[in-house]
Amino acid sequence: MACPVCKSINTGKVGHNTYYCANCLLEFTESGGEIEIFYIDAEGSSFALRDKEVALKLVESIREDNNLLLQEKLEELIIKS
Ligand SMILES: [Zn+2]
Repeated sequence: MACPVCKSINTGKVGHNTYYCANCLLEFTESGGEIEIFYIDAEGSSFALRDKEVALKLVESIREDNNLLLQEKLEELIIKS
């Protein structure tokens, strides 16, 4: 399954309906046509991201290695549970 964020096919299945993208390092789940995207932090906690645009922004800030920005942004990008 191609990554919904970066369209890479460099993805792997890691669980039931759960996939991991080796390109943008995000996990995503597919269930009945609904796709959810998750960011996994260094401690292994997962954060549900609002949408693809948000996920793409996050991937860009990770690429730029701007961890301070990332921490700041994460607060506003995730769906609060
Ligand atoms: Zn990807």
